[in-house]
Amino acid sequence: MTLIVQKFGGTSVADTKKILAAARKAVRARQDGNQVVVVVSAMGHNTDHLIELAHEIADEPPAREMDMLLSTGEQVSGALMAMAIHSLGHEAISLTGAQIGIRTDSTHTKARIKSISTDRMRRALDQGRIVIAAGFQGIDEEFNITTLGRGGSDTTAVALAAVLGADVCEIYTDVDGVYTTDPRILPEARHMARISYDEMLELASLGAAVMHNRSIEFAKKFSVPIHVRSSFSDTVGTLIATEPEAPDHPVAGAALVKSEARVTVLGVPDRPGTSYAVFSKIAAQLIPIDMIVQNVGADGRADISFTVDKADLAKTLAAVAEAVQQLGAEGFTHDENVSKVSVVGLGMARQTGVARRMFRALSMAGVNLQMISTSEIKISVLVSGAEAQTALRTVHQAFHLEQAPASAVAFDPRQIARTRDGEDALAIVSRLQQMEDLTIDDIELDETQARLSINGVPDRPGIAAAVFDEISQAGIFVDMIVQSIGREGRANLSFTIPQSHYAQGLKLLDDLAQRMDCGPITSSPKIAKLSVSGIGMRSHAGVAIRTFECLAQAGINVEMINTSEVRVNVGVDGQRGPDALASLQRAFAENQR
Ligand code: ASP
Ligand code: MG
Repeated sequence: MTLIVQKFGGTSVADTKKILAAARKAVRARQDGNQVVVVVSAMGHNTDHLIELAHEIADEPPAREMDMLLSTGEQVSGALMAMAIHSLGHEAISLTGAQIGIRTDSTHTKARIKSISTDRMRRALDQGRIVIAAGFQGIDEEFNITTLGRGGSDTTAVALAAVLGADVCEIYTDVDGVYTTDPRILPEARHMARISYDEMLELASLGAAVMHNRSIEFAKKFSVPIHVRSSFSDTVGTLIATEPEAPDHPVAGAALVKSEARVTVLGVPDRPGTSYAVFSKIAAQLIPIDMIVQNVGADGRADISFTVDKADLAKTLAAVAEAVQQLGAEGFTHDENVSKVSVVGLGMARQTGVARRMFRALSMAGVNLQMISTSEIKISVLVSGAEAQTALRTVHQAFHLEQAPASAVAFDPRQIARTRDGEDALAIVSRLQQMEDLTIDDIELDETQARLSINGVPDRPGIAAAVFDEISQAGIFVDMIVQSIGREGRANLSFTIPQSHYAQGLKLLDDLAQRMDCGPITSSPKIAKLSVSGIGMRSHAGVAIRTFECLAQAGINVEMINTSEVRVNVGVDGQRGPDALASLQRAFAENQR
């Protein structure tokens, strides 16, 4: 028999009428012959109200008591949901996290799941009942109630789907699926039939808040198909699974993060350990760092640029000031009115010219690029806040995201069937112990590339577009691209190409620099590129920092950096590739799958 997990978010259970409507969906799935587990969130904004109540009493209420309080929200909607199903003539039982046996660690208000017992749920399901599980909660060793962090019901739903081997996890929400970009910003955004886990992870971390990120990580790790759909209609939503919608298409979606702040550390001595020194200072303040870009400059000094949330800017600048002093860097600059525009797609890893197309379109629209960072499946650029919307629309059009690709594979929910082969529940449960840990899939070394850098790029639109037009016309494949702001607002642009094209690329860039009034050019005929890829890089923000730390300890100089949700890429001294690989493998040994 098929097993379906259905999760209803706060807006889907906001009042008793909506609870009844949700109950009807569960009953219908049961009548279609499925076993059904329903995971509920607290009604409407109940969690927010409970938090307000707590803060009327104390500025910092004890975290344990916060969890006692917040977990009641889901208990209320669970009991009401069970009553609603009874009133429709079906059997249901509501269970709290403790009653199910969802064990977590003791980190109150952001606990991590350690194990889940399936016995009680299985028994109820086998008796023909619909099981209602309270989302967002568990218990620790001492039977203290814990919660999983805001939005944690998604995590509960996907975790239950994983341990029960559900055929699908349906996420009912107030939107009818995933769009190519936020339709509130661009009305021409298109509803997608499918999206891959990796694309969703990148987009979610770039501001497309469809689901809690950790829950997508889970789903990927345990291959749980997710169907995001509307609780207010019966239309088919979007399937999040391994395969993208149109494998031959370079870009699946675009995203905008409106209010970021950029910080640049100028003239950092180009020697091992400097990135680590900067970022460990910021990390010590618990400030999440977003886009990180570094490249080597002329005169043996590097510039390191990164973005943080605007709200964290003051604290960040204080930490940076300290680092600048300690390192003997030249200084730092910042801009608190910047936005990040990104395109994401699994298909771009296999195609050339994607970055060029994006830069060309932005240049034609007159948009200036302050920072650039590319990874295998994502390209991000930093633009001024005023140009953010234009930039997003421009890239959305450039990749024709408003039209469904001809090769798009439709999604038929009736054909969903779990394809996990040969993995029994016991194996999943034992893997659950480390379910929320960081998993490193792969650490790769690529020794085939060379680096080219052009310094002193004037602060106006079109330079990146011109560079990559010419490079691509020459038939040279570009891999990693980074650009950061340098002195006097001039940017430094670095990229890697195959070693076999080094001389040709260098000549081309020299000519171009003269024509465009930039320079000097610097280069390395051989650079070693290391990629650490996996799951949970963002929720375990320390991955980038641990990478820098480990390379610093090995005395290996970092020439280029870019980071994304599923990958950290660094370019290091070409002679030190195997050393760097060995030390990274040691540093992440515990986290390797
Ligand atoms: N009720 C919790 C919250 O608002 C959990 C959830 O809705 O996912 O964060
Ligand atoms: Mg919610």
